[in-house]
Amino acid sequence: MVLDGAATVCPSVNMTKHTPQPATPDVFTGSFTQQEPIPQEGIDAALAVLNGGRLHRYNTHGDEIAETALLEEEFAAQMGSKYCLSCASGGYAMATAMRACGVKAGDKVLTNAFTLAPVPGAIASLGATPIFVGVGEDLKIDLDDLAAKTDEADVLLLSHMRGHICDMDRLMQICDAADVKVIEDCAHTMGAKWKDTYSGRHGVLGCYSTQTYKHVNSGEGGLLISDDPDLMARAIMLSGSYMLYTRHRAAPPPEAFEQVRLHTPNISGRMDNLRAAILRPQLRDLDAQAKRWNDRYKVLENGLSGANRLTLINRPADEHYVASSFQFLLLDWADAEIVDFVARCAARGVELKWFGADDPVAFTSKYDSWKYANPTPMPATDRVLKGVMDMRLPLTFSLEDCAQIARIIREEVAISA
Ligand SMILES: *Cc1c(COP(=O)(O)O)cnc(C)c1O
Repeated sequence: MVLDGAATVCPSVNMTKHTPQPATPDVFTGSFTQQEPIPQEGIDAALAVLNGGRLHRYNTHGDEIAETALLEEEFAAQMGSKYCLSCASGGYAMATAMRACGVKAGDKVLTNAFTLAPVPGAIASLGATPIFVGVGEDLKIDLDDLAAKTDEADVLLLSHMRGHICDMDRLMQICDAADVKVIEDCAHTMGAKWKDTYSGRHGVLGCYSTQTYKHVNSGEGGLLISDDPDLMARAIMLSGSYMLYTRHRAAPPPEAFEQVRLHTPNISGRMDNLRAAILRPQLRDLDAQAKRWNDRYKVLENGLSGANRLTLINRPADEHYVASSFQFLLLDWADAEIVDFVARCAARGVELKWFGADDPVAFTSKYDSWKYANPTPMPATDRVLKGVMDMRLPLTFSLEDCAQIARIIREEVAISA
């Protein structure tokens, strides 16, 4: 019976002989969450660690130097910092940086209204309270809002969210003048620079994540850099170095530990040798990978330039970003229009994250989602956040993939217009 029913629509089949075949629908089939494999050199180094069984960073044999100690030495050299500590996660690096700076329960810490959950979460983990600073249409921290709030806290946890680096000269002027210490969250800016200075080298401490979706991939992991011997001695003690800190190679001299070694709690969060082994070859590739990300970013940017009702993010010449993701704004669109647009893109395989959704999907990225911090509404920031669209840009995408994604978004925006 069903077949009979189907048969009644058969005449349309004949019509296709006389009308052009519909083009294959333009649907993107790549995965927005698929990263590249770990380089063979990293796999080999990981196997060597596994074969030795000495995964703990202080479990070394004879004059062996642990992979973690080598990683720290190499990353410090790469960033031009005196010291480096590897640790369990980017979130752990941020909490440790704040603890080293003396942030304690009841304190307030300035941070971005537009960032990801582990940033205010790191502040809350110390019993401190985030004070949110607004975001501009360039997706960078609003420096006027920052200047107005520096009286409220002694520390700014600055998140270079999605790789957008603000005018760091002006930010440091504002913070230095107000005696506010700057800790940088470089989860999305590893390898990026403002002018000639690496992200993470402006503040007293720079924090990085080596989690799968960041610029190097060890599953989970974090790195912390600084030139300050006292802060780094504290951070190393906090991470759980016991009295074995002299085994670190990118650490301050033993004198720096004298005052803190028995006064700093052990809040274990070390990295292990397996992750360090995987990361070392990836760090050597960082600049080449950055170029590949930026090539992809530029294809998307070109493909979307001039699209009606869509705002691209202004990237000043002094901002040398590493574009592991892509953002654009749909400013002043109605919620229903955005929901419809996102659904149509998704139907064509383009996974966009609408950061502005009232009810967050998958993860949170705006200040009013963090109710525990009791945030004060910021209307200008809300207007920007409402329109932020976000897309991951894994290196498994080819330049042709990026051109196709831009074409799909452009067509769907045009339908909305
Ligand atoms: C991922 C991320 C972190 C922290 O990373 P984890 O290693 O996952 O703790 C910090 N800040 C931002 C903006 C991030 O995206």
